[in-house]
Amino acid sequence: MKIETIDLDFMDTERIIASFLLLGDDDAALVETGPTTCLDRLTAGLKQHGVSGEDVRRVFLTHIHLDHAGASGHLSEVLPNATFYVHEVGYPHLVDPSKLVKSATRIYGGRMEELWGEARPVPEDRIELLKDKQEMEAAGGTLVAHDTPGHAYHHLAYLEPDSGALFAGDVAGIRLPGQSYIRPPTPPPEIDVEAWIQSINYIKQIEPASLWPTHFGTYEDVQRHLGELEQRLQDWLLFVEGQMDDGMEREEISDQLKAKGDAEMLAEGADIAQSEHYDLAGSYPMLTDGLMRYVTRRREKG
Ligand SMILES: [Zn+2]
Repeated sequence: MKIETIDLDFMDTERIIASFLLLGDDDAALVETGPTTCLDRLTAGLKQHGVSGEDVRRVFLTHIHLDHAGASGHLSEVLPNATFYVHEVGYPHLVDPSKLVKSATRIYGGRMEELWGEARPVPEDRIELLKDKQEMEAAGGTLVAHDTPGHAYHHLAYLEPDSGALFAGDVAGIRLPGQSYIRPPTPPPEIDVEAWIQSINYIKQIEPASLWPTHFGTYEDVQRHLGELEQRLQDWLLFVEGQMDDGMEREEISDQLKAKGDAEMLAEGADIAQSEHYDLAGSYPMLTDGLMRYVTRRREKG
């Protein structure tokens, strides 16, 4: 199996959202579809690699957020032979994306069309559910699904055992090429920091040779990367919780978190212009909302 990254040029910006193309002798597979707004870029990427719509037999989704799986419905028409693989909790949202679109509209408001485009349903008979540690044939090799909740409850990461590549979705955070800095994507409504840290430690134990986060690139400093993410998740959660305790409002907390994040990036030697590119995969107002909601929910549960 050969692995290629298709850069979906999200919002005309390079290296923000990836789709991974797995090439076998007789067939191909994709990990992630990207959003509908990037569909033309995705089909152009297939063509560039000499792959026809008929060749793609399997599409593996890490989770059903619109930046990862939003083009699935359209793609089910473009790839007539493809089966879509998803976690069982994500399944109903592929069959009927209306609830998901409603929830995303609460976050993105009037920018839905510009960012994501239309989300069409995937026909039920084109979808298969994956369980933890389930092994699937794909593009002349195999992929193993690993249950990795935290960013979303229904999140799967996919290990390609021959190369040790782990297609990490969002569980390994946002990291852009040439950078060491990892930003935790913590959008509302369902992040679970405790489960996420367990997933990070689980991935450490699997010992993948490389991480392939959808936002964006290939990284071999696996243990350091995961360690930084774990530490930052804990740190940011405590920070936001402290600000909430001080009676700060959402906007103020978001500004403070951005100041903190930018300082952390600088400390790691990042070009601060990169912060805006990270924003395209996870902006501070959204990440703040998710962390605040998690704090509130955890307190309600006692
Ligand atoms: Zn994402």
